[in-house]
Amino acid sequence: MNRIEYEERKRVYTHAIDRYGIKPQMLMVIEEMSELTKAICKFFRCPSYVEPDEGLIDAIAEETADVTIMLEQLRLILGINDNVCEHMDEKIVRLADRLGMKEPRQRPLMEKEKEELEALERLRNVGKRE
Ligand SMILES: [Mg+2]
Repeated sequence: MNRIEYEERKRVYTHAIDRYGIKPQMLMVIEEMSELTKAICKFFRCPSYVEPDEGLIDAIAEETADVTIMLEQLRLILGINDNVCEHMDEKIVRLADRLGMKEPRQRPLMEKEKEELEALERLRNVGKRE
């Protein structure tokens, strides 16, 4: 679990986005994803990946951290945090179903979330016929 809470991370991300700009930060997402790709490829290139090398695992951990940081910034830049969470929940429920597992527990929606979902639903229905 992170010791720096999301609101604090968000404060730093906002500063980084202001300093470096939207496009460079979005391009950095791609750069970090490619570094993670490379670390995973390197892991499997090692002949003894069944008994993994600590250094290779640490490289994957470090690049996963970089990608996570950049994806959190991407979510912030595009304002898609709630949308991403919604997609994740749907996909995890679908995966559990495909695996024959019972539906994952979900925490109940908070009042604010219910209102936001209703507002979003109203927006989606704008222009649609009754
Ligand atoms: Mg990196």
